[in-house]
Amino acid sequence: WRINMKVIVTGGAGFIGSNFVFYMLKKHPDYEIICLDSLTYAGNLSTLKDVMDNPNFKFVKLDIRDREGVYKLFEEEKPDVVVNFAAESHVDRSIENPEIFLETNIIGTSVLMDACRKYGIKRFHQVSTDEVYGDLPLDRPDLFFHEDTPLHTSSPYSSSKASADLLVGAYGRTFNLPVTISRCSNNYGPYQFPEKLIPLMIQRALNNEKLPVYGDGKNVRDWLYVEDHCKAIDLILENGKPGEVYNIGGHNEMANIDIVKLICDYLDKPYSLIEHVTDRKGHDRRYAIDPEKIHNELGWLPETMFKDGIKKTIQWYLDNKDWWENIISGDYQNYYDEMYGKK
Ligand code: NAD
Repeated sequence: WRINMKVIVTGGAGFIGSNFVFYMLKKHPDYEIICLDSLTYAGNLSTLKDVMDNPNFKFVKLDIRDREGVYKLFEEEKPDVVVNFAAESHVDRSIENPEIFLETNIIGTSVLMDACRKYGIKRFHQVSTDEVYGDLPLDRPDLFFHEDTPLHTSSPYSSSKASADLLVGAYGRTFNLPVTISRCSNNYGPYQFPEKLIPLMIQRALNNEKLPVYGDGKNVRDWLYVEDHCKAIDLILENGKPGEVYNIGGHNEMANIDIVKLICDYLDKPYSLIEHVTDRKGHDRRYAIDPEKIHNELGWLPETMFKDGIKKTIQWYLDNKDWWENIISGDYQNYYDEMYGKK
């Protein structure tokens, strides 16, 4: 069933979804990839410009909450696989306005799975996050998240993702829908929206602007190069077992403040640009994934070392200023000013 597969990638105009589209078109030239995206503030059609003419690629502007539209698309296209990246993804925004997170991340996921039930599907894959496990204390470096670690969320964002994960499990068990879930740590790489830590710091450092770091900056995240995440999802589609959850992580834990300092070093900017701002409400201290299962069962290992990935990423932002300069003008700038105060 791997020949000529038709794969719907939702959220394919966003950061990880677009990288997944590029990866799949290259890795599987016999697959047809349909990107379904409603183009929220985080979705960007210009990201997909290099694949728009690819005969194996199609873009459909559609909201995953639009049941009628989604059913119509499934009826016309009869996809084999759905990979669901579409989500509201920014924790800070979920604290300001939780409702849209519940609508897209929970209701949207159930609409997609209902379409899968109605029209038949070989696999529904849900792209989830390590944030569903809550956080770990900084002074217990021996503790990691395993697939059976209880869900214990802190933000409206992570709660909406955890709710979706529970629903996906329920559709698998109740309706025999062939579902898989992956829970990945923090991604970095090209095309990440400039509200997230790494691109935010790169673009502000380049402009010699203050670098806002939450609280003491000691919060620890496990960073994975986006292409390694895409490879893991492709492996799960090919060899993962329906009903299973797979953790994906790079064993690359770093404190936020150290990442910001590293970016300053690469760009030859002074640490005096760093400004500690009031901590995020409910800010999780440490996330750390144990990726043993996907390694042992599917042979996945991250291939990009952080020191190489971060260099590549910084260079990409230097080479693609047009992409992010367009984004940080207008609406996004207004949002930034509201969140962190005017420059
Ligand atoms: P992103 O915000 O960059 O992209 C989200 C995309 O979804 C955008 O293109 C947006 O237009 C689209 N979208 C939003 N609401 C939609 C709707 N109702 N209908 C259709 N499209 C809609 O997000 P990202 O960082 O690429 O994350 C993708 C997925 O991966 C999310 O599900 C997120 O929870 C998960 N994830 C992200 C990370 C990370 O570090 N970024 C880590 C683990 C898991």
